[in-house]
Amino acid sequence: MTLFKKFFHALELGQTRCVHCLRPFSPSASVSSFQSPCAPPEAGALLCPDCEALFTPYSGPRCPLCGLPNTSTEALCGSCLQHPPPWDGLGYHGIYQGALRDALLRLKFAGEISLAPLLGTYLHGAAANLPRPDALVAVPQHPAQLRKRGFNQAHELAKELHNLCGVPLRPELLFRPRPHTPQSGLSASDRRRNMNNAFFAEYAATGLVLWLIDDIMTTGVTLSASVKALRNVGAQKVHVLFVARTPLT
Ligand SMILES: [Zn+2]
Ligand SMILES: [Zn+2]
Repeated sequence: MTLFKKFFHALELGQTRCVHCLRPFSPSASVSSFQSPCAPPEAGALLCPDCEALFTPYSGPRCPLCGLPNTSTEALCGSCLQHPPPWDGLGYHGIYQGALRDALLRLKFAGEISLAPLLGTYLHGAAANLPRPDALVAVPQHPAQLRKRGFNQAHELAKELHNLCGVPLRPELLFRPRPHTPQSGLSASDRRRNMNNAFFAEYAATGLVLWLIDDIMTTGVTLSASVKALRNVGAQKVHVLFVARTPLT
């Protein structure tokens, strides 16, 4: 090895860093492969082989309406039997635990936007069975919350999905006109009350088929409120797409 090459190697220039463990690795050893109807470019290697194994998608039985992991295939969960969700379909990558949970927390609370491309590829893979939409919409934040955090993680994920499949991103279609109480720590009924009229949609959404993007689904109350707002202005179909599903509500 020449002196220059040694120096180049020591500086780790030209190497790819795993977006999860941040260690350098050889991209040729790990290239994500997934199938989706919306003409994906090559996803590229974002994870080292060790971390890749930590992010495998959930493929077990689930409630067909809300995606809740189930013990038996095709069984509706108790919540969907009583209150079927308002969306037309859904997709998600994995269960909100382990490395996937860590990555979502790092994106949301530590502002590690470098994780968004990886999580965007997971949204893309999770959309494989959904019909191609006219537009993407992210679950919005109230402007005060947006100023405080500096970014909306759902919008960052939607941007990555837009980059992957080229579907227009239409953030102006849905907005959150009033500040909200954080949902974490509230009971399911309090979450529902907290979300009443939390979202409003523009009539430009009338007749459109949409994918509504979020990072996590817990009870589904936030997604339901967003979908209802889009339905109220005549959206034709709304499919929800998120990275991770909590195992129990
Ligand atoms: Zn790694
Ligand atoms: Zn369900």
